Amino acid sequence: MTTTTAVGHRGWLDARRTPQERVELLLGALTLEEKVGQLHLAGDLDPDGSRADIAAGRVGAGILSGGAHPDGPTTSIAATAAGCQRVARTESRLGVPLLLGSDVVHGLATTFPIPLGLAASWDPALVTACAAVAAEEALAAGLHLTFAPMVDLASEHRWGRVGETSGDEPLLASRMGAAAVAGFQSGGRFTAAAKHFCGYGLVQAERDHETLPVGQVALHNLHLRPFRACLDAGAGAVMAGFHDVDGVPVHAHRALLRDLLKDGWGFDGVVVSEWDGIGQLVHQGVAADLRDAARQALLAGVDLDMASGAYRAHLPALVADGAVPPALLDDAVRRVLRLKLRAGLLDPAPEPRTAVHAPADAGPGRAATALARRAAAASTVLLKNTGILPLHGNVGTVHLCGPFVDDVDALLGAWVQPPGRETTGPTLAAAVAGQLASGALLVSDARFSDLAVHRAETADLTVAVLGEHPSSSGEDRCLPTADLPVGQLELLAELAAVGKPVVVVVVTARPLELRPVLRLADAVLVVWHPGGHAGPAVADVLFDRTPPSGRLPMNLPRMEPQGASGTFERASGRRLGRARDAKFGHYLNALGSPELSLGFGLTYTSFAYSELELSRDVLPLRGGAVRASVEVANTGTRPGREVVQLYLRDLVADVVRPLLELADWQTVELAPGESTKVVFRVTADLFAYWDRDLRRRVDPGEVDLVVGPNAARGSAARLVIV
Ligand code: BGC
Repeated sequence: MTTTTAVGHRGWLDARRTPQERVELLLGALTLEEKVGQLHLAGDLDPDGSRADIAAGRVGAGILSGGAHPDGPTTSIAATAAGCQRVARTESRLGVPLLLGSDVVHGLATTFPIPLGLAASWDPALVTACAAVAAEEALAAGLHLTFAPMVDLASEHRWGRVGETSGDEPLLASRMGAAAVAGFQSGGRFTAAAKHFCGYGLVQAERDHETLPVGQVALHNLHLRPFRACLDAGAGAVMAGFHDVDGVPVHAHRALLRDLLKDGWGFDGVVVSEWDGIGQLVHQGVAADLRDAARQALLAGVDLDMASGAYRAHLPALVADGAVPPALLDDAVRRVLRLKLRAGLLDPAPEPRTAVHAPADAGPGRAATALARRAAAASTVLLKNTGILPLHGNVGTVHLCGPFVDDVDALLGAWVQPPGRETTGPTLAAAVAGQLASGALLVSDARFSDLAVHRAETADLTVAVLGEHPSSSGEDRCLPTADLPVGQLELLAELAAVGKPVVVVVVTARPLELRPVLRLADAVLVVWHPGGHAGPAVADVLFDRTPPSGRLPMNLPRMEPQGASGTFERASGRRLGRARDAKFGHYLNALGSPELSLGFGLTYTSFAYSELELSRDVLPLRGGAVRASVEVANTGTRPGREVVQLYLRDLVADVVRPLLELADWQTVELAPGESTKVVFRVTADLFAYWDRDLRRRVDPGEVDLVVGPNAARGSAARLVIV
């Protein structure tokens, strides 16, 4: 066999060999210590401090988050990456580069809306486009892996991490998760890690990493689905959750990781631990010490140890002692090497880089900026409008008030890496000022309510930007209620009492309890944490350069005193017991129906739906389909986008099924007066579920289909599966 000079005796560098041969050649060349080194993902890499470890092959991967650098934080990630790779390539025995990851959750240099905001677009193609840009910027900074998307189904509005998810609806989370994976991995060299396997979204507020009340039926019917969708989209990695399932921490959960994910589903990518997730096994009281934790995690199926150091310290001895079979160690290493191969890290070294580049040029005209602006506008959800919106350039004097109107950072959202703060656009105040043809803009800070009220009296209308600062959401940042921050409602009441129109823009990482806001304001627009180009995007929506087209990605809660009706009224007009309400009303202390349901959102025109028609009312269990159609008409005076949603209801099943389950949606764009027929193809497998013996099945019998503009409104038709 001939090899090029660059390849030399390092056969894995030879691109003419098959990927499998290359991985095996490298695996065969590694010593036991070097193999274990490949499984160590360092939490604190730096070219100087980590030099000895990298050179000795004791570290194979790392997580980078940026930090201080004389030329700015973008350069800091790129410089750290380049410095560490130089050591790995030139000073380690085999010259194998490191796999470098980061939490690139909604952008790196360009900050897109938070995942919950992107989910509100109900536009998977948009999610893919944003993730593709994020991956490009991350690769340019020297990264190969992101710890995203987070596809946990958020079951608690007060949980600090709701904004990192796509909500609580399995289909929405599945499609958005798969879309993100497709985008992140579109260039072929970057890897997405779907997290946090599995069920972490069932966490109760204030108990972020504790025991979860999860049963296997719910796990299969709800929480595993988005992970499956991400793997079907090709996700190369999965991150284990900190929590435990049925008392077994996921990092030691062999049945979930090895038996189901790897052996059952055939996942051949990498299972990466949570930050110190293996070390936590000791704190969780299932491992006596770090050595025991390392043994349990490797046996359970965790491949890459993030930050705990347990593998590096103990795996060589565990293998030597026979406590961990060498074949299992090799399997984990192979998985990591496959990711490295995909990232191009097993190719001959590129020309050494002389300069360290920031990942993206920050000019306002670049495509990534335009995409971020479009995505932020597409994620906004209009909840109420008495007709005050859209605003016109000659609206008169506008009073813009609230804590975030002059603060771009406050609109970015959680998990923004330092580079994301370098390329932000104008503030909301500047963007609104730019849209005013005449009249003046008055700006006031929410902290001085006397001033705000005085300005509201002077102006023709007030736009109050209320909601949560990003620092109040994130890991371990649960809230005691889903209310607006203290003082904001009082300010709004004072502004409304002035008697001039009030538009409320809600900045948030979770669905808040907005009933009082909906009562007081003339219009309410939820913009989530819309990212670095939020200013122009929100101004685009307010002034109708882009009409609002987002839809709620989860219910908006209505907190009611205990003892409220306890039933859930739906489109059919039937009242159903709470037992059926397995998915739609499970926020604590909220027993009634939601304030506004999944899928709800207005725009500047209106739509009318005809009754649902079925091509036939019998659906065969196998083969055959029913066409469910409605005519949708734009009955207003402006063009608009409507998200037509299909829901299912299984009337009698072996286990408790959701009252309504999202099964599909289609988007239509209609000019004023235009109408179109929207047709859904319904097959029996849409009704498949896991039964009490964890067998997948479809039952013959009656089911309902509901088509409408959201989960609370629609036209229903009954179908019999035979
Ligand atoms: C979070 C993960 C994150 C990891 C690395 C953990 O604390 O739960 O979501 O990917 O840290 O930053």
